[in-house]
Amino acid sequence: MNILVINCGSSSLKYQLVDMNGEEVLAKGLVERIGIEGSRIKHDTTGKDRVVIEEPMKDHKRALELVLNAVVHAEYGAVKSLDEINAVGHRIVHGGEDFAESVIINDKVMEAIEKNSELAPLHNPPNIIGINACKELMPATPMVAVFDTAFHQTIPADNYIYAIPYEYYEKYKIRRYGFHGTSHKYVSQRAAEILGKDIKDLNIVTCHLGNGSSVTAVEGGRSIDTSMGFTPLAGLAMGTRSGDIDPAIIPFIMDKENLTFDEVNNMLNKKSGVLGISGISSDFRDLEIAEQEGNVRAKLALDIFANKVKKYIAAYAAQMCRIDVLVFTAGIGENSDSMRERICEGLECLGIRVAKELNDGVRGIEKVLSKDLTATAVMVIPTNEELMIARDTLELVSNR
Ligand code: AMP
Repeated sequence: MNILVINCGSSSLKYQLVDMNGEEVLAKGLVERIGIEGSRIKHDTTGKDRVVIEEPMKDHKRALELVLNAVVHAEYGAVKSLDEINAVGHRIVHGGEDFAESVIINDKVMEAIEKNSELAPLHNPPNIIGINACKELMPATPMVAVFDTAFHQTIPADNYIYAIPYEYYEKYKIRRYGFHGTSHKYVSQRAAEILGKDIKDLNIVTCHLGNGSSVTAVEGGRSIDTSMGFTPLAGLAMGTRSGDIDPAIIPFIMDKENLTFDEVNNMLNKKSGVLGISGISSDFRDLEIAEQEGNVRAKLALDIFANKVKKYIAAYAAQMCRIDVLVFTAGIGENSDSMRERICEGLECLGIRVAKELNDGVRGIEKVLSKDLTATAVMVIPTNEELMIARDTLELVSNR
């Protein structure tokens, strides 16, 4: 069975066609600048040369039309016709409290995704546009929604309720939701597989460290706490996002700088994090180079990032009593040996020890970085959200 995975952003669209017999990627690509001048698709069919398709794409429907053309193209396509695409899995950012699992998309599901747009006004609307465009182009193909928030719906109330008047939870559903759920779920399951253990017997902390970053406590396969909150702005300091700060800072700055809500929101989401601290870049590669060249604020930004990750790991150790596995994933987690080392430094008291010779130079591969088999297994596991979406889609469509 072939499954098309779609991840629709406001002006971009990522896709992957996966043959589930053997979980092989047949084709994948990225559409950029939808609705903007200079739209293009970078399309890769496995075993063939990359094709770049530059054509105006006024909306997501046109972009998807061109993606489907590329996927079935006689020369550079992966399959012969659209009939060979058996189902579509859509990544949806916010499922609110309505979805603790992936679901087959029907009218009721669409209504609930639309309702949850209020909680993710930047993300859910493009996701919905992607589903509608797919429905128009492939009306008979079953579609599945896989939510970034679903994995965290097992978090207990004492970890998801904020200490503000309870009525705001009741009235507006203000609570911790958590994000990157598909990634945390994938790497925690994969960790158990690699170690040959039943996930039910493991306490795992997963560190998804990329442009957006979050840490999750996974007890017996269930998320029990995570660092992101009501929105993906919470928790760690990130590339450009502030993460947790004293909430009183916000009205204070608004008053001093005469900022509107939009301006302060923009400052916290786009101008903060390691970019804000360093004044140089949101990219950890740039910061690591600047630090080596003696830039003090680049070093400070990296130290602050590492400290915050460390604090979450320790907090989750306290919640779960012990950590059997610590997983690093996403751009920074998979690629930066120095950041992994920095985070683990000082956590020996929790049984977390990275062997330098196992960690140095490790990039984008699955690897155990710790030697002591009786202590915490520290691992790098490249995330694969697309595969997770394809697996959920296959399971739901097969059981219809
Ligand atoms: P992601 O959002 O998972 O794609 O992660 C993107 C981020 O990963 C980039 O902005 C970089 O900060 C970081 N990154 C990627 N490669 C490296 C590397 N070799 N060393 C350090 N950071 C990296």
